[in-house]
Amino acid sequence: MKATHIWGDERRVTEAAVKIASARISSPSDPKATARPISALRADAGTTITPAGIGVDQAFSVFQDVIAPATRAQDDPLNLAYIPAAPTRAALAFDAVVSSFNIFGGTWEAGAGAIFAENEALAWLVSLLGWPEEAGGCFVSGGTSGNLSALVTARHTALARRGGRPEGGWKIACTSGAHSSILADARVMDVGVVEVPEGERGQLTGAALRAATADEPGVFAVVASAGTTNAGIIDDLAEIADVCEEHGLWLHVDGAYGGAGLAAPSARARFDGIERADSFIVDPHKWLFAPYDCCALLYRDPDLARAAHSQHASYLDRIDREAWNPTDLAVHLSRRVRGLPFWFSLAVHGTDRYVAAGEQTLTTTRAVADAIKESANLRLLLEPDLSVLLFDRPGWTRDDYYAWSDELSRAGRILCVPTSWRGETVLRLAFVNPATDPAAVIDILTTTTA
Ligand SMILES: *Cc1c(COP(=O)(O)O)cnc(C)c1O
Repeated sequence: MKATHIWGDERRVTEAAVKIASARISSPSDPKATARPISALRADAGTTITPAGIGVDQAFSVFQDVIAPATRAQDDPLNLAYIPAAPTRAALAFDAVVSSFNIFGGTWEAGAGAIFAENEALAWLVSLLGWPEEAGGCFVSGGTSGNLSALVTARHTALARRGGRPEGGWKIACTSGAHSSILADARVMDVGVVEVPEGERGQLTGAALRAATADEPGVFAVVASAGTTNAGIIDDLAEIADVCEEHGLWLHVDGAYGGAGLAAPSARARFDGIERADSFIVDPHKWLFAPYDCCALLYRDPDLARAAHSQHASYLDRIDREAWNPTDLAVHLSRRVRGLPFWFSLAVHGTDRYVAAGEQTLTTTRAVADAIKESANLRLLLEPDLSVLLFDRPGWTRDDYYAWSDELSRAGRILCVPTSWRGETVLRLAFVNPATDPAAVIDILTTTTA
């Protein structure tokens, strides 16, 4: 009996999708696109899930007219809020290609070629870290799951080495500047957090770490930030590595945002000590010009990750455990080969262009920082380690900051969202896009005189 084609002829939908993707990839994004209330979306989209289906044309028009415009342009050059994105056209276009192949990236057996390519891109990151060649890892969805997987490996390793759970439970150590995902991951793992007081730049120092962990036998890992999200601060990695070595602690470096700075010679010295870390993450979807969702998770000794993460089940018996199976290295099993758009763009453009793009972002940041320092009404609060600027406008209240930010956001001129720093409301700019024009940013900042 012949199988019926239950989906009918899908050629037309395929062609239409490719056309839409191609048009989108080649055009700039709309900075006025923004979130809308669910009631407005429901009213405009109508009922989309129906027994008979709404058909290709209607589904695409709902997407293009209602759904896409209600999402923020992450890659607009004047989106400088939170951590924006700046994927290359090569990475975006290739992401569409990757999707069309639907590769299973969990095991070598199913995804060998793609995993090989992902590992080529990871090897470049390993070389930037100054780690041995045996280091490696895999791509996961984001920094939150990358940090979790690294910390689970760290705890598994500590459990094996120490032969049991410490009295009072396991703990990690970090500063309050560590990303919120670290606290979330600690809750998932049911481990405590020793909050280490920050140094004068807001960084984790070796001395403070040594003091804070002296009477904490449960600490098994230290999370150092290589670029805090709020202020772009790099912790004192070399001193921290000393303490970790002295006390046999796992050193995890969270470089989700700032790890990309490793590629920039002008910032590289700030990372000294990172060559001694045990695990590291960086999100190429932040400052390495890749689309969502993409976090590179790396281990100095991947065998420790395998010991912690390998899943065993009878239907998985066939898996070759000697092969490079990303499944074995993080909290996941099935996975898309989300590192491929990053690999492709890196292969196409070359690492020199990545270095140049990182440097250009830093140059832009420094130009805007200089303009803030010279401005009569703005005050730079911290010399930038990387590409985040914190500054304030003396005399403004919280409401003034929000009103200024909201108005410019509505007009689609700039996305500059207030944050808090040492208990005060301040302004923050995060640069990850080499296309951002510093003159345009500086020009808009003059509107704070009002
Ligand atoms: C963004 C960020 C994270 C979380 O990454 P996601 O990809 O959003 O899960 C973790 N740590 C730092 C330092 C970050 O900047």
